[in-house]
This record gives sequence, structure tokens and C-alpha cells, in this order.
Amino acid sequence: MKKNNIDNNIVLVGGGVMSLTLAVLINEIYPEIQIDIIERLPSCGLESSDALNNAGTGHAGYCELNYTPINKSNQININKALEINENFETSLIFWSYLDQKYSFFNARKFIKKTPHISFVSGLKNVSFLKKRYALLKKQPLFKEMLLTENVELIAKWAPLLLKGRRSFDSLAATKIDHGTDINFGELTNQLLGILEKKDNFSLLVNSEVETIKQRKDKRYNILIRNLKTNKTIEMVSNYTFLGSGGKTISMLQDMKLNEAKGYAGFPISGKWLICNKADLVKMHNAKVYTQVMEGAPPMSIPHLDLRVINNKKLLLFGPFAGFNAKLLKHGSFFDFPRSIKLNNIVPMTIVLFKNFSLLLYLIKQTLMNHASRIKELQKFYPEANLRDWKLLTAGQRVQIIKNCPFEGSKLEFGTEVIYSKNRKLAALIGASPGASVAVASMLDVFVNFFGSEEKKIRDIIPSYKLKLNDNPSVLKKIRGKTYKYLGLW
Ligand SMILES: Cc1cc2nc3c(=O)[nH]c(=O)nc-3n(C[C@H](O)[C@H](O)[C@H](O)COP(=O)(O)OP(=O)(O)OC[C@H]3O[C@@H](n4cnc5c(N)ncnc54)[C@H](O)[C@@H]3O)c2cc1C
Repeated sequence: MKKNNIDNNIVLVGGGVMSLTLAVLINEIYPEIQIDIIERLPSCGLESSDALNNAGTGHAGYCELNYTPINKSNQININKALEINENFETSLIFWSYLDQKYSFFNARKFIKKTPHISFVSGLKNVSFLKKRYALLKKQPLFKEMLLTENVELIAKWAPLLLKGRRSFDSLAATKIDHGTDINFGELTNQLLGILEKKDNFSLLVNSEVETIKQRKDKRYNILIRNLKTNKTIEMVSNYTFLGSGGKTISMLQDMKLNEAKGYAGFPISGKWLICNKADLVKMHNAKVYTQVMEGAPPMSIPHLDLRVINNKKLLLFGPFAGFNAKLLKHGSFFDFPRSIKLNNIVPMTIVLFKNFSLLLYLIKQTLMNHASRIKELQKFYPEANLRDWKLLTAGQRVQIIKNCPFEGSKLEFGTEVIYSKNRKLAALIGASPGASVAVASMLDVFVNFFGSEEKKIRDIIPSYKLKLNDNPSVLKKIRGKTYKYLGLW
């Protein structure tokens, strides 16, 4: 058994994009803090953060119609799209800061300009898209958005959508040219590259955190097992961050953290159809999102995307959902059953009854075969040929189940950070909008741990605490600089 006893240290459990983002933020602001990352896999960024385990969309609210929900009185709420866009700008600003500071950090290697398009058909959906456009176009953050109902223009924006289509009635699309495709696995590894050059940083791979226990002095004992040698070591942490992806909820339960009582996780697996036929890939230079299918959870909105991974282009369509009892893609089928405890079995059962249509949807999706998946794709790209596409397993998303004061037990599709009472431990749970807003989420964790270092944070992220949408001249200046730097304008 070895113990570290550094006064000011943080242990981050999991080496995904969230932990690495938090670690780099801490190192930029407080370079003297010792940072230790523990990762159960052979290297960082191999779970949800890996390039093809997620869709690589730089979520900015441009094309995702679920971020602008419509209520029963036919009113569209654009607040979520605005919030996500502001948060995504924070990510872009941070990445361009790192690019300028470190010669070996190359943002253009993981971020590619890819237009974001929303495409709908049918009178009701076209009317929704036009109303959404009218509201967003007025917002400085969205002022470059274009709308068209012109079939020739849609064919120019995304030719595959119209090839072989039988009816051209009631189609519409919006487009933002400076949308992005992001390789979050590459980003994770470039963040690691920064930390590896620092003295007070260590990474333990093939090492699984088994237990975390609070000590009398409020610090935490962290027991780690080396999965190759089976040996254990113990670390003592002043601050602890659980960035263990889908496993975080069950780790909180094992700790019996009061603040996490009643929480549970519900895993939803994902699959993509992938195509790398050069002539097809050449014809699709966009991420095209449409409306969600009936009964489907919001994160299952189908989309047809150009992806650029290690300079290779491919097309991705999905996600197809399913139920799978693992909490991590590289986890165990016993993970989910083991996470069912006395204090969460009631909310879990209530949520399953309340979300019966989701359950049916998951069963239907799990039973789909290649031909039926291609049929879904053909709603987008009518000439899609079964032989050009193969199936790939994506990462696991673990949705949050929790007790809410007014609504009772509820299934949530966002992310949430749970803090211990003394704010020395933070845990990120949930799945969406995910990696795109990692910087804003981790800045929040930073401030909760160490207090608001406004001046230092502003040196890194000049827009910190500013609403860019309410400050068009600042937005213009910051975007002008950042986007030019990242090759987005
Ligand atoms: C199908 C799908 C599509 C998505 N699409 C998008 C998208 O288009 N855009 C977007 O922004 N986001 C997207 N996301 C979300 C995004 O991928 C995640 O939000 C992000 O990768 C989460 O990063 P993380 O660091 O929290 O988790 P992860 O990347 O999962 O990392 C967690 C790490 O913790 C390790 N770990 C777990 N338990 C332990 C333990 N006990 N000890 C040590 N290590 C442990 C794991 O091995 C893993 O490496 C998508 C996710 C999925 C699944």
C-alpha cells in the first residue's frame, strides 16, 4: 500500500473528456495543485469520448430541434438552444486559447467546420421550422442562420437528401455554415498531452477505482486496483472528481453519498450505420438533423453526418437505441442490475411505468435488423443501399432517474453535477449535451471547488460570466477572433 499525502491535490476518477478538461482548467489557474487521473482502460478517451462512440456534433443548438421544444399553445421555447450555444462558445474560446499557448495543441486536428442543417418534411414540421427560424434569426448568436423551402437549394446543401425522393411537397431546411464536427477522443488526448508535460501530474491506466471513503478529516481515501497485476494502492485526495461516465451513479451509490440518495441510472445503448464509400461521402458535407421519431427519447433524433476522423471522411447515420445492461461500453452486464438498490428501486419502477412508450421504443429498436435500419435511413437518403452501410456500436448513455420535489420520480436526459455537502467531491452524471459543453460544465465544478477566480478565468475565457447574446459587439469581436483561429470562418 502506498499513500500520497500532498496538501493540495485532486484525484479525478476516469480519463474521459470531462476529467481531462477539468484537469487542464485547474492546471492553467492553479499550476501548483497535484493532479492524479485514474483510468481503468489502457489509455484515456476510449469510452464515450472516443471518436465513434459519440456523434461528434459540436452541439450549439443550430440543428438539434429538441433544444427548441414547442408547447401545447404552439409556442417555441428557444432558451435551451441559447444556453447551449453560449456554452459551446466557451468551449471554442478555451480550445483556441490552448492552441495559441501550446505549440503541440492543434485544435484544427479535432475540430472541422461542417454545416449544421435541420431538415423537415410535412406541413406541420415545415411550419415549426419556419417559426423556429424566425425566433432564432433575431438572436445575435444565430444571425447567420439561413432558411429555405426551395428544393433545388436543399439539393445543393445536402444532395443525398433529395436523390430518388418521390415527393418534393412541403420540405424545408435551415443551415448554419459554421457548424462543427469534433473528434472528442483526439481532443481528450491533446488535453492529456498538455498535462503530461507538467511535473505535478500523474496518470494511472489499467487502474480501477474500487472504493471511495470519506475520512474524519473530510478528505477521501481512494482504493485503486491495478487490473493487470491485481495489486491495490490507496490515495488520499483533498478534492475528488468522479468523471467515470456511466459508472458514476453506481460509484455514488456505493459511497452512500447522502446528496445522491434516490438517484439511479438507466442505460441506453447506441448504434450507428457507417459508410465510407468515397463517391457517397463526397456528396454529403453537413450534419443533418430532423425531428424526433414518435415515442423516441430526445437524444435519439436521427441525423446523417459527415465525420472526419484522422483525416478520413465517412458518413454516420443514427443513433439506433437499445437496452443493454452495461453502464460502460467496456463494462460488465452485471453493472445495471448491481446498481439497483433499496433506495432507488421505487423511483426506477415509477419511471419505467411513466415512460412506457420509451420502453416500447427501446424494445422495437433492439429488435431492428439491418434492412429495417436501412429503411429508417431511406427516410433521409432515399437511395441508401443496404450493402454500402455497416453497423457499429456506439457508447453507452446512462440517463438520470431522480426524485423531483413536484414531479416525483423522473427520467432526465441532461447532465447534472452532484456535490458532497462540503464541496470537496463532485460527480458528473447524465449524458447530454455532453462533451460539447465540457468547458462550461467543468468551469462550474472548478468554481464550486476553489471559488470564483474571475480575473484568472477571464484571462483564459474573456467572455466568462458574460451573455454573448446580450452583448452583440463583444460577440462579434470574440467570435471573429476565435472562429478565424479555428478555421470556422
Ligand atoms: C451515442 C452517443 C452519442 C453522443 N453524441 C454526442 C455528440 O454528438 N456531441 C457531444 O457533445 N456529446 C455527445 N455524446 C456525449 C459525450 O460522448 C459524453 O458527454 C462525453 O464523452 C462524456 O465524457 P466523460 O469524460 O464524462 O465520460 P467517458 O468518456 O465515458 O469517460 C469516463 C471514463 O471513466 C473510466 N472509468 C469508469 N469507471 C472507472 C473506475 N471505477 N475507475 C477508473 N476509471 C473508470 C472509463 O473507462 C472512461 O474512460 C454522445 C454520447 C453517446 C453515448
